[in-house]
Amino acid sequence: MDLLIDFLIHTHISNLGQNGVSPEDDEPFFVADLGQVIRQHRRWKRNLPDVHPFYAVKCNSDPNLLRLLAELGTGFDCASIEELRSVLDLGVDPARIIFANPCKTASSLVFAQRAGVTWTTFDNLDELDTIKKHHPNAQLALRIFASDSDAIVDLSKKFGAPIDSTWRLLQRAHELGLEVSGVSFHVGTGASNIAPYIKAIQQAKTVIEQGKALGFLINVLDIGGGFQDSNFENFAPKLQATLRRELPTGMRFMAEPGRYYARSAYTLVCKVISRRLQTGAQPEPDMLYQNDGVYGSFMNVLIEKEVLHPTLVSRSLHRHEGGGKRHKGTCRYSIWGPTCDSTDRVVEEMAMESEVKVGDWLKYTHMGAYTTATATQFNGFRSHRHVTYLNSELIGHGTTRKSRHIRPHLISCQLL
Ligand SMILES: *Cc1c(COP(=O)(O)O)cnc(C)c1O
Repeated sequence: MDLLIDFLIHTHISNLGQNGVSPEDDEPFFVADLGQVIRQHRRWKRNLPDVHPFYAVKCNSDPNLLRLLAELGTGFDCASIEELRSVLDLGVDPARIIFANPCKTASSLVFAQRAGVTWTTFDNLDELDTIKKHHPNAQLALRIFASDSDAIVDLSKKFGAPIDSTWRLLQRAHELGLEVSGVSFHVGTGASNIAPYIKAIQQAKTVIEQGKALGFLINVLDIGGGFQDSNFENFAPKLQATLRRELPTGMRFMAEPGRYYARSAYTLVCKVISRRLQTGAQPEPDMLYQNDGVYGSFMNVLIEKEVLHPTLVSRSLHRHEGGGKRHKGTCRYSIWGPTCDSTDRVVEEMAMESEVKVGDWLKYTHMGAYTTATATQFNGFRSHRHVTYLNSELIGHGTTRKSRHIRPHLISCQLL
């Protein structure tokens, strides 16, 4: 798979025009392997067969990714009119969508109601009034507090009803004649502990009991997102066992994975546009300036404190303005984005195997989650990116020995 991705990177670079002619040729670009999304989906089904995934659109709303997930049969977690629209436009049945934002505008509720999206979440009393007024037939899931303090981004400061408030909330929903049929939680994005999930599942049981006492049939449990590649096989079987053991039969389980599906499928390639070799006596690393930064695809460096390790795209296949020889052996660099803001630093310091020159390209893997989704146009740098798609799951079918050269199945190339 890596070979294929490298092949497409080289193809993209060698198709660029003469240096300096077209601004497009100076843009960063992605290669997305949709086959990787398919493999993640298989992995999900194998490890969490009882839990239906509703992909969290905010993580990466690439229409090709959404289309593939729709074909694979996932549901979708949307938080805004625009996200609802992007999923509905694919022809997805509104029953496969949860409007999983606990604090919604009146107009978005009206939009959801007209579109036939009935599932939504709430976690406070005022939201119940808004829902009563604008979407009274909604099916509600009470989002309860859950927190993994070690998560990359802890969401519990903002959302989730404390367990001592759930009775009052359910009572109020009952008074208003609303229907509560689910409980949800989200331990935070990039979770690293299983205990907060288990604790939240226990508390969900309490809410189900409280609901029963008021005449609600709560038969859906939504265990949110937070799943990471690194610990999925460790978490998933334990969660699966806990759900089976702790909750009554007939309960439906769902989750809202974002990062899990999108992260590993996208590789970003950035061009080195300038360089400062240090001349002072201090042993500061040399500085590389590239065409994408924290206001573009790298906001995760600021928000998630992500430490990235790009690699140099091998030079033999592309034109190069620097030319000449380069030093072999370790070189230390800091890497900066294109804006005129000094917080725009992508890598604090790293070692590269050889010298990096202006005109070189750097490859960053695992760039599918919260990258394009959060890109801005700060300082006049474009936020949309060219993406070359391949589906590595289609490769190898029907190829004979003779024709087994690299022949990636390109789906399309377009701007994101
Ligand atoms: C962001 C978010 C998700 C996705 O979280 P990941 O950590 O990317 O899996 C799911 N549900 C809700 C309500 C969210 O806000």
